[in-house]
Amino acid sequence: MKYANSILDLVGNTPLVRLNSVTEGIAATVLAKIEYLNPGGSSKDRIATRIIDDAEAKGLLKPGGTIVEPTSGNTGVGLALVAQQRGYHCVFVLPDKVGEDKRNVLTAYGAEIVVTPTAVAPDSPESYYSVSDRLAREIPGAFKPNQYANPNGPLSHYETTGPEVWRDTEGRVTHFVAGVGTGGTISGAGRYLKEISNGGVHIIGADPEGSVYSGGTGRPYLVEGVGEDFWPEAYDPSVVDEIIASSDAESFDMTRRLAREEGLLVGGSSGMAVASALKAARLLSADDVMVILLPDGGRGYLGKIFNDKWMRSYGFASVTEEKTVGDIVR
Ligand code: PMP
Repeated sequence: MKYANSILDLVGNTPLVRLNSVTEGIAATVLAKIEYLNPGGSSKDRIATRIIDDAEAKGLLKPGGTIVEPTSGNTGVGLALVAQQRGYHCVFVLPDKVGEDKRNVLTAYGAEIVVTPTAVAPDSPESYYSVSDRLAREIPGAFKPNQYANPNGPLSHYETTGPEVWRDTEGRVTHFVAGVGTGGTISGAGRYLKEISNGGVHIIGADPEGSVYSGGTGRPYLVEGVGEDFWPEAYDPSVVDEIIASSDAESFDMTRRLAREEGLLVGGSSGMAVASALKAARLLSADDVMVILLPDGGRGYLGKIFNDKWMRSYGFASVTEEKTVGDIVR
């Protein structure tokens, strides 16, 4: 019989698929690594397992303990998956701007959520950072993973994502591209690929325009999960050879094209990574092999990127014109 002993055994080993349409005119082989095929739906499943393994080994998390983290999305799902398999409680603190669907995903996996107001300063006692710190202090047996500073985030990508890319390309990868949020993916996978290739793999960080990694101040942009307004400890700038930024408009346009042309229903940070990567891919030759990591799926963004009304309300042009029956039945 072929089966996994637990859903956690299915984390990682995500496939590579060649991009064929959005890459028109590009000579290099451009491959996408499909992280939405992880059981929790994103690359964050990888970091959750390693962060919790390490906390258990260090005695920071004991049977029946509680995981407290400010997270509204993928990291929460990853942590909740591991927590339920191992009998921990989860309390996630999220700002009230996070939509109901994302809240419901977390509670569906058995997590408790605490909602905090968005319209307060980060150092206010009501902010999502302050509330999570307070809960971590006050709840007995609480453990706060702190994905922005926890070295197990980048380590999980060093141990899994990087080796998978090397193995599946049979060592032919020449360029690796990932969006930068906490920086864990690019720092960990990038470091592995640099080491194993003796510096032969060029590492490109993709960033939303306005974020600190591409020289901005953290000015608001709409792409979720990437870009920062501070420099997290999980990010190792020495690994990254180049940062390429893309605008929200470029990112969302590419996100929609990936669904329509490549059959890849992915999130906005995936569109951002591909839009940025293709700017570099245009300069490459037929011998080059570029791997772009696509962090999550598109179902969490149906009301935004894939909703014409939402797109129009922000002035994005890439919308499908609504048709009436008369337009279609001609
Ligand atoms: N895209 C999405 C949707 C994410 O949730 C994250 C994680 N914040 C990233 C990209 C970036 O990954 P990392 O934190 O490893 O830099």
